[in-house]
Amino acid sequence: MSRTAASPTRLALRGDLLEVTADPGFGGVASSKVRFDADHWLLIEDGRIVGRSATAPDASWERHDHAGRLITPGFIDTHVHGPQIDMIASYGAELLEWLNTYTFPAERRHADPEVAAVGAATFLDALLAHGTTAAVVFPTVHKVSVDALFEAASQRGMRVISGKVLMDRHAPDFLRDDVDGAERDCTELIHRWHGRARLAYAVTPRFAPTSTPAQLDMSARLLQAHPGTYLQSHVAENRDEVQWVAELFPRSRSYLDVYRSHGLLTERTVLAHGLWLDDDDRELLADTGAQIAHSPSSNLFLGSGLLDWAKLQDAGAQVTMASDVGGGTSLSMLRTLAEAYKVQALQGVRLTAWKALYSATRGAARALHLGHEIGSLEPGTLADVAVWDWAVGPVATNRDRLARDLHERVFAWMMLGDERNLVSARVAGVERYRRSEARGP
Ligand SMILES: [Zn+2]
Repeated sequence: MSRTAASPTRLALRGDLLEVTADPGFGGVASSKVRFDADHWLLIEDGRIVGRSATAPDASWERHDHAGRLITPGFIDTHVHGPQIDMIASYGAELLEWLNTYTFPAERRHADPEVAAVGAATFLDALLAHGTTAAVVFPTVHKVSVDALFEAASQRGMRVISGKVLMDRHAPDFLRDDVDGAERDCTELIHRWHGRARLAYAVTPRFAPTSTPAQLDMSARLLQAHPGTYLQSHVAENRDEVQWVAELFPRSRSYLDVYRSHGLLTERTVLAHGLWLDDDDRELLADTGAQIAHSPSSNLFLGSGLLDWAKLQDAGAQVTMASDVGGGTSLSMLRTLAEAYKVQALQGVRLTAWKALYSATRGAARALHLGHEIGSLEPGTLADVAVWDWAVGPVATNRDRLARDLHERVFAWMMLGDERNLVSARVAGVERYRRSEARGP
């Protein structure tokens, strides 16, 4: 696969076109918010979707026939740690111990520019090989890790939102910064990368315990000085963590309120987890437009808790979908959605395939204010699309054949599928991943 591959001017992809056009809520499986055009051609010009057709376009279009396969918008992963693919699936610890034992030593390696460059390329190629074409990413505290990630993303034409991790306390010496140095580094990185290609900067305090109040204030200054920048962090993942934050910030009403009081809750704020929130917190999320990046695989793996998505929905807060690798155990958003279904099932709530798919495509795009660019198959958006086999292997193939309606079929694809189902991933029309035929079903 060539890094510099150009998109043919006119490109047509044949397959079963599926997208969710609006939030279906926690309703039933019959939804008017779903658009499905079986056996259609998706038309792409100069990297943008321009329409669809039931009949084959003429020979002026480069045609790719995926008849019998599913075509969706590329997935958007709203919270994932690139360098943590080095320590994914580490045994036996809850959040705070897990950070010290596994995460921090792994992130230390990315101070080396060569490790950071190889790591960023490996990570982004892995995302693409899972059908994820856009992501909100934590690199490490090191400036070189941000440069490496943005450089690799721009080479691939990907929509990536990221920024230097900020930690000026409660972290090992080799990962600790300070307010002034971090502000200089962030400002330099924002000038270098924010708004270039499809990149955006996210001010990135790791979480409240590892930043002093002065560093949180500095983060807010950066947001104000640089319009359009995002804020990414973690909130209320684990009960010991929540207790620790209460001790560190005794004047704040809650963990989320720490971020509010430092001016960090905006409509471009992405907070992972949000498991241990109360009604006031949920209202605050809705009022500010800050979103929760739901990380079900990570929450189950680390034993952190279960997201009360229905209450967030009722409050009007936005929830998007995230792998949270390396707390999560897979970059596959299909596996992540399957875990999300089980997390809701444990609470007596049924998550339809439509709601799940929305949260990882158009819902995420809208929450990030990028609905004009990603998350759908609408004309005018960039052609970040994934082509999937409906089923791989005898069990899934049998199940697919017996599905009686569209929801049943899509739900089975979501529950049984993973990266092995991915045939091709395109970014702005350019194919950046193609499954080798030897690995096909
Ligand atoms: Zn995380």
